[in-house]
Amino acid sequence: MAGGINFRVIMSPLSAAAIRYRKNGFAMNIMSYICRRHHGTITKENAGTGLSPLRSLPKVQLHIHLDGAVRHSTLWQAARKKGLCGPANSFPEFVDLIRCSKGDLASFLSSFDRILPIIAGDRELISQIAYELCEDQAKEGVVYFEARYSPHFMSSSFTTPNSRGKSVIRDDIMTPRDVVMAVNDGIRKGCQEFKVNGRTILCMIRPCPEFSHEVVELSHEFLNDTVVGVDMAGDEDAPCTKQHIDAFRLAGDLGLHRTVHAGELGPAENVRFAVEQLGAERIGHGYQICQDPDIYKMIRDRFIHLELCPTSSIYTGAWKGKLSDHIAKRFAKDGFNIGINTDDPTLLLNTMESEFQLAKTYFDFTDSQMKNMTLNAAQSCFLPDKEKTSLVKELQAKFDTL
Ligand SMILES: [Zn+2]
Repeated sequence: MAGGINFRVIMSPLSAAAIRYRKNGFAMNIMSYICRRHHGTITKENAGTGLSPLRSLPKVQLHIHLDGAVRHSTLWQAARKKGLCGPANSFPEFVDLIRCSKGDLASFLSSFDRILPIIAGDRELISQIAYELCEDQAKEGVVYFEARYSPHFMSSSFTTPNSRGKSVIRDDIMTPRDVVMAVNDGIRKGCQEFKVNGRTILCMIRPCPEFSHEVVELSHEFLNDTVVGVDMAGDEDAPCTKQHIDAFRLAGDLGLHRTVHAGELGPAENVRFAVEQLGAERIGHGYQICQDPDIYKMIRDRFIHLELCPTSSIYTGAWKGKLSDHIAKRFAKDGFNIGINTDDPTLLLNTMESEFQLAKTYFDFTDSQMKNMTLNAAQSCFLPDKEKTSLVKELQAKFDTL
């Protein structure tokens, strides 16, 4: 306690980004794939253009990070106002700084080091980002989406450095609860304006167990006011502590849905732990289950939904082989419950259309497989049962007219 204000020392933005985005590899085939689709400066706003046949296909997106789905133009305007453009002197240079263009770990991490300080603690901007996400999703043909974020990472934590260069949370500025309210405001307005159905998931962060209880409390307080569940993101090397386990149990007791990032770069065992100990109904990524036949079988037999993010899996090094040998193909062949998602379009310049196009081109997915995947994603979403049933009906009706 200092001067009546509570100060809690937490990590710097750099380490926060490092925690979420530890990347250990890159395959150039994805960059050449993206570059072939575009001419001139690629931005989040024009990524994916020219793929109209897939744009009209109704889609469900269950795995997208709000802070990884910000328009470049919005970031650029805010960065200029705040003097946070770094070495960029123009919009194209700024886009180059933000996006993953070099295909190495340092370039990926530096993107998030730039994004978080621009948006953290800025109520108006956070609402705007949530609002614009609704428009962007609607434009990509998304009928329903669940956007996730860490309320702590977007609070004032990253805007007020203390004298030792660490960041602090000042309770009188923008708290994690304020962040949730700002996001909800943007999502509600955006959904109404752009005729799309969007909900949110609040993220616990694996290396930050001190956030977890509050994440569950906030999810409960705002349940059905856009919030439908909780997630755990972050470096899988960090242990899943008792605080996380207790928080997930409490979430289950409170009727919150649960998904967990697991088996992305971490071992298959993390997936088993997420399902059996954390009560995960869905798994974010889960590619590494191919390393363990028992866990592979468990996920298939229980029909647990895997939120696949193909482009992201290449950039993270989660999938090191050729795109045409991607594990998604085996999942599809073996009748898994899978869906396709974008993860972090600000960095990856992908859209739901481009992911579907990639799945068509490299995984040989047929239109009918993609429709089934979309219906499986809808069945696995965290909406209340009645709303889920009408979502599935709405999708089926749309598919029937195609
Ligand atoms: Zn993710």
